[in-house]
Amino acid sequence: MPHHILSNEPMHIHPELTLFYRGQQVEVPENIGIDPNLYAYHGLDRFSGDMDEPGARLAPIHTHDSSGRLHVEASKTVDFTLNDFFKIWGLNLRGHSIRCIADGIPVRNYRGLKLEDGQQIAVYID
Ligand SMILES: [Zn+2]
Repeated sequence: MPHHILSNEPMHIHPELTLFYRGQQVEVPENIGIDPNLYAYHGLDRFSGDMDEPGARLAPIHTHDSSGRLHVEASKTVDFTLNDFFKIWGLNLRGHSIRCIADGIPVRNYRGLKLEDGQQIAVYID
């Protein structure tokens, strides 16, 4: 999926993700997109925000804690999707049935869900 650059302004938005696995809520780990073990995909690194520390790498979608708060921080405003986040994380959902609700509305194609500021996303993995 191409990533359209919507503007050359930096972006910094915070969708909230709640995950359920077989009916039980599970944590979204901290440091996704920061910890090398939770940073599986580097194909979007060109959009990473400014790196103050040389050598520091941060994915444009990352977490700092296990609250489910996603930090979408990029040097440009880009239409990132939920699938981008799962790719960065390295979460393999193949073989699972997935239901997704965003701001109370069922999402037919969770992969293509565009991340928005303040969005409440629930993903049910069965
Ligand atoms: Zn942030």
